[in-house]
Order: sequence, then C-alpha cells, then structure tokens
Amino acid sequence: MGKVLIIGAGGVGTVVAHKVAQNADVFTEIMLASRTKSKCDAIAKAIGGNKIQTARVDADDVEDLKRLFNSFKPELVINVALPYQDLTIMDACLACGVNYLDTANYEPKEEAKYEYSWQWAYQDKFKEAGLTAILGCGFDPGVTSVFTAYAAKHHFDEIHYLDIVDCNAGDHGKAFATNFNPEINIREVTQKGKYWENGEWIETEPHAIHKPLNYPNIGAKESYVIYHEELESLVKNFPTLKRARFWMTFGQEYLTHLRVIQNIGMARIDPIIYNGVEIVPIQFLKAVLPDPGELGENYTGETSIGCRIKGIKDGKERTYYVYNNCSHEAAYKETGAQGVSYTTGVPATIGALMFMQGLWRKPGVFNVEEFNPDPFMDELNKQGLPWHELFDVDLEM
Ligand code: NDP
Repeated sequence: MGKVLIIGAGGVGTVVAHKVAQNADVFTEIMLASRTKSKCDAIAKAIGGNKIQTARVDADDVEDLKRLFNSFKPELVINVALPYQDLTIMDACLACGVNYLDTANYEPKEEAKYEYSWQWAYQDKFKEAGLTAILGCGFDPGVTSVFTAYAAKHHFDEIHYLDIVDCNAGDHGKAFATNFNPEINIREVTQKGKYWENGEWIETEPHAIHKPLNYPNIGAKESYVIYHEELESLVKNFPTLKRARFWMTFGQEYLTHLRVIQNIGMARIDPIIYNGVEIVPIQFLKAVLPDPGELGENYTGETSIGCRIKGIKDGKERTYYVYNNCSHEAAYKETGAQGVSYTTGVPATIGALMFMQGLWRKPGVFNVEEFNPDPFMDELNKQGLPWHELFDVDLEM
C-alpha cells in the first residue's frame, strides 16, 4: 500500500523495522535511515530477505533530510530518532509533502524540558499542506492515550480520575542501566513531579509521592508519581478529568544510582571543558552506560503498563483497569530487543498501519487519542501486545 521511511536505528528503530517488515502487505517499500548507517545495515541483515533499504541521514539537518525524502519519496516517516529531531523532521516533511509519526514530543537539547507547544504550533501548516502528523505513538505516550480514549468511548459517560501506571519488573542483570536512550531517560526521571488536579498543575519535588501498587502477574512494586508527556494532551482532550497522574516503578538501587549521578554532576546538560575539549556530562555518561539496545539478551521478567480510571456510567460510579503485560524474553526472541523497546516500537508500527490503511488520516497535527481507538486496539492484540480489562475493581488510588 505504501512506502515508509524509519528514522533512528536504536532499540525502538530495531523493533519498528522488524514489525514493519512483518506487515509487508501494507508497507510495500521500507527504508531505515539513521546517523550511523552500519547500525541500519545490521538490523536489515538480521531481518533478511532484502526487505529493507538503508541510508545515512543527519536528522538535525533539514537539507539532508530533504535530499533523502526527495530521492526515496516516502508517504510516511516514522521518527524513532531522539526528541531533539522532531522539529527538523517535521520541517522536512512539510517541504517534501510527507506525513509524520513519532513516539516522543520535542525537547530542546539545551533545556531539560518537554511539552507539546512546539509541535502543536505546526497544526495549521500540516492542515494547509493536507498532511497528517501523528504525535506520541509509542506505549506511554501512545497506547496509554488510546486506552484512555477507548475507555471514554465504550465504558464511561464521563471519566473523572485517570492514573497511568507503568511497571517494569524486569531484571537485566546490570547494576545500573536505562531502558531507553539514557540522556532522554535521565532527563525525564530527574525532573520535578507534576500532576493535574481540579483544573491546575500541581508540582512536587522529584519522587515525593509514592506508594506500593499491585501489578497483574507481578505483585506489589513501589510506584512514584512523575510528570509524563501524555498528561498534557489527555487533560486537554478529556476535559471531564478532575485528576490525572502518571506512576512509574523504580527500584531502590536505581534511585540511589540516579541520586549519585545527579549529586556528582554527571546529569548536567550544559557543556564543560575537559582536557581542552567541550563535553556534555550526560552525553559522556551515555557513552559509558550499557547500551539499552543491548540489554535484551539476559533480560528476564515483564513490564505491565495500563490505565486505572474512575468515572460515571449510566449515573453510577465505575472503575476500569486496562493493561498490557509484555515479557522481555519474548520481545527479545522475536526482534532482538528488550521489552521497553518492543512496547514502543509495536505501537509506532500500528500507528503507521492505521495511517496507511486510511483509518488515521486527517490533515493537521494530532495526538493519538484524537483518532478512533477501536482499530488500533484490535491491532494491539494481533501485533504482539494483547490487553486485558478489569471492571469495578479496587484501583488502589
Ligand atoms: P536510542 O538512543 O537507542 O536510538 C536513537 C537512534 O536515533 C540511534 O540510532 C541514533 O543514532 C539515532 N539518531 C540520534 N540522533 C540522530 C540524528 N541527528 N540523525 C539521525 N539519527 C539520529 O533510542 P531509543 O531507540 O531507545 O528511543 C528512540 C525514541 O523513542 C526516543 O525518542 C525515545 O524518547 C522514544 N521512546 C518513546 C517511548 C514511548 O513509550 N512513547 C518509550 C521509549 C522511548 P546513533 O546510533 O548514531 O546514535
């Protein structure tokens, strides 16, 4: 049905390439491009069958992107590089008439801050060009946003309380590692906590609110309120929400390492001079930490991510819990990547499928909860991320 260009050959790009290649009836031509072409070649070789073309591209450079877009002529770009590249890729899409999908909202390199304003500002440009931009199509944001839309559509008249719960009960055997790009991950989890309540954002010190929550097939895990990007679009798109929070599990070892990293200045994002050379401490740290893309081999256990929702249906209060559990070992066996990359790459592929099949296609810039959740939910079950529902249970909130 169409030509797709994947940008980024990390853990998530690996999974997207595998899943897109598995859906060859929809994705008739596939190209994988990244800064380091050898990584694309290795992924293409592992998939085999000459299914994937590869290229080198610097996604910080709009002209370089335009050259690639004009030669390959994709219908859709799946951006699984880093959040820093979102705007340059969107600019190149507009210049060349290409549709766009990503999994993380824009972050400027020099400031640890992310919000949708920069990308929402492209709304009119995409609309006028007749192009679709699908934002935040990983697991969280992504599936959690679609779960919320599905709950609001089918199970509630009004949703009032939303708690997104993200548990990684996996063990990779390393003293400290991050499950996706360390620079992005550390910036995310060291920021202040923030949640939505009664029409305003409440800010807390990092990790100040926490309690054990029970996760299906896993048990109790200490869970911390952190700010997460889908909260921004969900409270806008579901204005009946009285409160919206995001919880993530962290082990004590992980938090101790994180505290030390911060205290000794290794999480700094401003350049320092070392031996006459300018380096950014967090980028240097990334270079010495385990590569998230290579954690898969010994990773055991599973992730459990879902939405716990309370609201009103037919005049009565109701609770609803929708979730997916994903095994790191099964993800590795299928794609050579661990569960966190898998749970991000599969939804990105499904979003691309939705676009190619004409189900999620409208001119403008949209978060995933603004599309019909039903066909996406069906595909989750088919593409490796089956979900489960619990009604009227204790949400522990
Ligand atoms: P990695 O760091 O493993 O991979 C990033 C890839 O992008 C690398 O191949 C890197 O190239 C490439 N890249 C970086 N800069 C450029 C550039 N200027 N031009 C071209 N390519 C570039 O990250 P992940 O795969 O773990 O994550 C990918 C994305 O997914 C991130 O944006 C992350 O925030 C997002 N994500 C979203 C989640 C969700 O649920 N929504 C969850 C997890 C991640 P090189 O190899 O040369 O460094």
